[in-house]
Amino acid sequence: MSSVPRFWRSIGSRYNLEGTRCKECGEHFYPPRNFCVNCRRVGHIEPYKFKGTGKIISYTIIHTAAEGFEDQTPYTLAIIQLDEGPRLTSQVIGDPEKIHIGMRVRSVFRKLGEDGEGGMIYYGTKFVPEDA
Ligand SMILES: [Zn+2]
Repeated sequence: MSSVPRFWRSIGSRYNLEGTRCKECGEHFYPPRNFCVNCRRVGHIEPYKFKGTGKIISYTIIHTAAEGFEDQTPYTLAIIQLDEGPRLTSQVIGDPEKIHIGMRVRSVFRKLGEDGEGGMIYYGTKFVPEDA
């Protein structure tokens, strides 16, 4: 990760849907890249904040959670294609029975879990149905 540009380090990709974009060809990258796979040396990479909307490409309903997440099962883990193009894997909040391929979703910022002993709370991006 030492090659990540300085502008990126201060953004905090885990907390926002922040990636990068190539000004030359318009390709978006998430997780962020500082090198355009299309343009190579002539690419111009800049930070980009995704709108956070997209659709479900595929999904799995998880019935067995990791320790500390038992109260969250069942939950849905989906591959989501952002409107800008990149795909990512994320939890989708909502009734698992209503989730379907092609469903429109949007990102939300939610607590992922907490460490009772240390009091640490972890946050991250999850998705909800777009009309929720
Ligand atoms: Zn490019």
